Amino acid sequence: MTTGWYVAPDRAAGLARLAQVDPAAYARTRNHLDGAVTGLSPYLTHGLISLREVLAAVLSRGRLPIGHKLVFELGWREYFRHVWSHQGEAIFSSLHPGPCDEQGYDTALPDDLCRAATGVPAIDSAVRSLYATGYLHNHARMWLASYVVHLRKVHWRSGADWMVAYLLDGDLASNHLSWQWVAGTGSHKPYLFNAENVARFAPAPWHSPGSVIDQSYERLDQIARSTLRLAPAPGKAASGTMDTFPCDPLLHRPPADLGLQAPDAAAAQALAGRRVWLVHPWALRLPPEGLAEGTAIIGIYPKEHHQRWPWSAARWRWVDAAMSALTPHRWLIDAATLSQVLADSDRVECAEEAHVQPWLPAMVKPRLEPTLFPAVSRPCTSFSQWWTRSTRGLQEASALLR
Ligand SMILES: Cc1cc2nc3c(=O)[nH]c(=O)nc-3n(C[C@H](O)[C@H](O)[C@H](O)COP(=O)(O)OP(=O)(O)OC[C@H]3O[C@@H](n4cnc5c(N)ncnc54)[C@H](O)[C@@H]3O)c2cc1C
Repeated sequence: MTTGWYVAPDRAAGLARLAQVDPAAYARTRNHLDGAVTGLSPYLTHGLISLREVLAAVLSRGRLPIGHKLVFELGWREYFRHVWSHQGEAIFSSLHPGPCDEQGYDTALPDDLCRAATGVPAIDSAVRSLYATGYLHNHARMWLASYVVHLRKVHWRSGADWMVAYLLDGDLASNHLSWQWVAGTGSHKPYLFNAENVARFAPAPWHSPGSVIDQSYERLDQIARSTLRLAPAPGKAASGTMDTFPCDPLLHRPPADLGLQAPDAAAAQALAGRRVWLVHPWALRLPPEGLAEGTAIIGIYPKEHHQRWPWSAARWRWVDAAMSALTPHRWLIDAATLSQVLADSDRVECAEEAHVQPWLPAMVKPRLEPTLFPAVSRPCTSFSQWWTRSTRGLQEASALLR
């Protein structure tokens, strides 16, 4: 399924994909790797389309109850944002103890995993898809994370950092908190899967009979709660290893041929006295209507963020293709330099977003984007708690858009 997956980096392509969403088929088949999932995640992560637009488009074709599967899954994205907004940096450490002592996990990813050569077809197929497309079906993400943490005993944080760098939809809240959910440090038990589960939801090349995942759930639970590590099967490596699926290098800065400029004194002079709208990788859309005529549009990649979180070259290219459609002025820039360049500008604004917020100089005024679900001010410790509070009294999904 995923190896032919491609999403064009423009809003029109995202809207065309949105027009194809079939909520009934989604609810019936979403757990299958070839099911009718939306494929909208790169557009949502990078702000080309919003959750509100997704729901409005779907509802324009028919009503949905609030508890519909699709609405529920959109809710997971906002729930993870809710947790991030309350926990901040703490989401990058275990939220609570998991099934094993933290010290019992390795920090380095095994080489065979990174080369898609574990000998478990489901895992090797997932790694190859991740490298080839920057996308994985939700079930494949869960299987891969569960294998890494519970069977190979690699700390969830190492797996999360690796996966988020390759995903086109890499989102620090959805990704790192999902890994914690699988690990059992953000949920009450470890998420486990076996060969039978893969056979039910994935196409034949993923099936893994006779491999280390071909075990009962009781045995897998014992392994997850022990210090046991299951080594790769020697000589059983899947056919397409890294020789046929080379992975992109991870980059802290955009590939040189993208032609980003460095702002100089002339750029600062050109912005003096003008209103400025900053486009950034998590809000790749035009400025809000009604912005003063003559507003300068500048694209920024916050250097501090990218220093900490590298991306695959493919992701840089995807994001920059979308950004360059909005503005030719794109800078990889740190907060101090941005502050100097904009010092004489009239008013500087951008769309508020948690990935970029820590790296913006104080003069940049973030505009709040409306969320899909009503904000829940009390910190919730589970999705069900958050869902109950945010949808209390609502029957129809359309109530979210009022
Ligand atoms: C280990 C792991 C890592 C993940 N990393 C990311 C990530 O970096 N970025 C990301 O956007 N999602 C992540 N997810 C959640 C989910 O897998 C993806 O959002 C989904 O697979 C994207 O494909 P889609 O757009 O076809 O989803 P669909 O099933 O069509 O869902 C529509 C939209 O709803 C939201 N959504 C659906 N399921 C979830 C979920 N479980 N959690 C959060 N939002 C959801 C997404 O925005 C998605 O685009 C991760 C899940 C796991 C288990």
